[in-house]
Amino acid sequence: MIVILDLSATEEQIRQIEDMLTAQGLRADVSRGEQKIVIGVIGIPDDARAHLVEQFQTLPFVERVIPITYPYKRAARDYRPEGTIVRVGGVRIGEQVKEIAVIAGPCAVENEEQVLATARVVKAAGATLLRGGAYKPRTLPYDFQGLGLEGLKYLAAARAETGLPVVTEVMSPEDVETVCEYADVLQIGTRNMQNFPLLREVGKTRKPVLLKRGFAATVDEWLKAVEYILRGGNEQVILCERGIRGFDDAYTRNVLDLNVVPVLRRLTHLPIAIDPSHGTGRWYLVPIMAKAAIAVGADALMVEVHPEPARALSDAAQSLTPARFAEMMEELRPVAEAVGRCIRETS
Ligand code: PEP
Ligand code: MN
Repeated sequence: MIVILDLSATEEQIRQIEDMLTAQGLRADVSRGEQKIVIGVIGIPDDARAHLVEQFQTLPFVERVIPITYPYKRAARDYRPEGTIVRVGGVRIGEQVKEIAVIAGPCAVENEEQVLATARVVKAAGATLLRGGAYKPRTLPYDFQGLGLEGLKYLAAARAETGLPVVTEVMSPEDVETVCEYADVLQIGTRNMQNFPLLREVGKTRKPVLLKRGFAATVDEWLKAVEYILRGGNEQVILCERGIRGFDDAYTRNVLDLNVVPVLRRLTHLPIAIDPSHGTGRWYLVPIMAKAAIAVGADALMVEVHPEPARALSDAAQSLTPARFAEMMEELRPVAEAVGRCIRETS
C-alpha cells in the first residue's frame, strides 16, 4: 500500500502514520519526492488491506491511498509517480531528463591505451558515460576473463582524463566493495539478474546500479529482482534491456524487446536503458535499433565501441568503430528531437 501526502505534511503527521503502522506490526518507508511525500507499507496481509486503506483515507492530511496488489512495491510506478532521476556525477538519467544518456565504450577493458582511446572518441561524439568490463562473465572459461582490478584502474584513468563517469560490471558480492572504489555505476549483467546475494550487496551501497534483464527473464521477474536492490535502500537503479533469447540466432544474437520500454514506463518509475549491441549482436543493426529505442522512449543507450573491432577480445561482431559511433550519434539527434529529447553535443 502507498500513502501519498502533500509536501506540506508535518513531521508529526508522518509520525502519526508510522505509529499507526507499527502498532499493527508493519513498517513504513518514507520517501520525500520533489512533489509528494510517499509512504510505502510492505507486508500487509491480504485480508487487512481494505480496512487499512479506509483507515488512512479518513486522515485529513492524506491525499491518496493506493492499495498495491502487485508484488513489487518500491519499483512500482505509484511509489514515485514523478519518475526517478538517477544521478551519476553531473549526469542525470530518467524520463524527466531531456538529454538521453549514452553509455559507450568497449565490451572489455583490454589495455590502458584501448580504454583511453575509446573514451576520447566517444566523449568527442557526445557520449555521457564510459562503459567497459573489467570482470567479464564469459560463457567459456578459456575466453578472456577481463583484467580485474587492473582494468578498473584503467577505467578510472580514462575518467580522470575525459571526465566521463564509469559504468562497469560487478559479478560477485565479494567484489562489490572494490568495484565501488573505481566505478560510478555498478552494472549487473544478464547472467546475474537473479543473483540474489549480489543484488542484496549492491542494495547496501549508495552507488547507482544498472540492472540488465536476464536473457530469459520475464518483466515480472526483472521487477522482482530490482526490488532486492531497492529494499536495501539503494533507489538509484536503471533497468537495461539487452535482448532476450529467441529461437532464431542466425541473423541476430538476441531479440531486442523494445516492447518493454512502454511496458516498464507504466509499471515502474525507474529509468530505462536499451543496449542494442547485445540486443542484436551485429554492428550494422546497432545504429538503427538505437534510433528505434529513442523513438519508443528509452532514457539511455548502452553501446559497445572498439578502436579496432576486428581485434576485440570479446563481442567483436557487435562493436562499432569510432567512426561508426560518431555517425550513429549524428543520426540519433533528429530522432531524439522528434520525441522531445536531445543528445549531448559533440566536443
Ligand atoms: C556487457 O555489457 O558486456 C555484458 C556482458 O552484457 P550482458 O550481461 O547483457 O551480456
Ligand atoms: Mn559485451
